[in-house]
Amino acid sequence: RTKESNKNTYNFYTASLNTQSYKRFFLSNDFRNAMQKNQFVLYYQPRVDGRNGRIVGAEALIRWEHEEWGLVSPDDFISIAEENGLITPLGEWVLRTACFKLKEWLDKGLHVRLSVNFSIHQFLHSDIVDTVKRIVQETKVDVNFLEIEITESSLLPSGLVVYHAVKELRAMGIQVLFDDFGTGYSSLSWLNQLELDGLKIDKSFIQKISDNSTTLEIVRSIIKLAHGLNLSVIAEGVESSHEWDLLREEQCDEIQGYLFSRPLPADQFDQLLINEVMKVTEVSNYNDQVN
Ligand code: C2E
Ligand code: MG
Ligand code: MG
Ligand code: MG
Repeated sequence: RTKESNKNTYNFYTASLNTQSYKRFFLSNDFRNAMQKNQFVLYYQPRVDGRNGRIVGAEALIRWEHEEWGLVSPDDFISIAEENGLITPLGEWVLRTACFKLKEWLDKGLHVRLSVNFSIHQFLHSDIVDTVKRIVQETKVDVNFLEIEITESSLLPSGLVVYHAVKELRAMGIQVLFDDFGTGYSSLSWLNQLELDGLKIDKSFIQKISDNSTTLEIVRSIIKLAHGLNLSVIAEGVESSHEWDLLREEQCDEIQGYLFSRPLPADQFDQLLINEVMKVTEVSNYNDQVN
């Protein structure tokens, strides 16, 4: 390497670092405005039955349609919202929008479940149970199709608060899923303390199961453990049919990932759902005629 190229590498490194912190700075400044300007949107990613690939539900994933930065990922702004406290109104908006959407599907006879990500700050700095009750009443959604995803990192500092809220939400009929399972420090101790309905194996594991036998064995054990505890298992980040084959062999209940679909804007997801229902009806009509 010449001195020149070393220098370039160094410049590139600082430049990209600056871009990241500039971006955060600007996003952070624009945040309050963005809420007033309705720049947030929900995308929906299908969750499919691990056996046959049929859509059984969706996860709602937020994006920010920023004038200059384009579609901004939640990884770039959820932490900003947590810092400035706007995660509470943002989280309410997410839940309300998701519940209206779910109600619309159910009213059309499209019986799918919808999961919504919650931040720990919603548990710590607002009465989350009260908020959920209020929004459920307002949207008149059937809570039996509603699921809430919480991540372990968010469980850590706040044991009792989360414990009680989860208990109340489950008593209402809402299912609670443990998101990004396996990435935190105390996944097992939390499984031991919280009563949950399912867990989502983090995509960092799924991405390795095809070529790492240790990871495959870990995923196998997680699925067995979950089923032993009566929890359903969702694998996230499934990108190849080989990964799906391996997971199907282990009786993984649900699959989510680019193999089936990326997260989609609402109208595109609706179309996907309607097409699938029509496909299923055509097959059963055909079977009726044949038999
Ligand atoms: P998450 O809840 O673990 O969501 C799964 C992430 O994996 C999503 O990223 C999704 O787009 C991505 N993903 C799905 N399938 C694949 C795949 O096959 N390959 C790869 N490489 N990625 C895949 P996204 O949408 O960027 O969201 C990132 C995180 O932001 C979410 O992780 C969640 O923790 C958080 N988040 C998203 N929406 C909300 C929200 O409304 N409220 C809160 N509090 N957090 C949210
Ligand atoms: Mg999630
Ligand atoms: Mg996850
Ligand atoms: Mg995550």
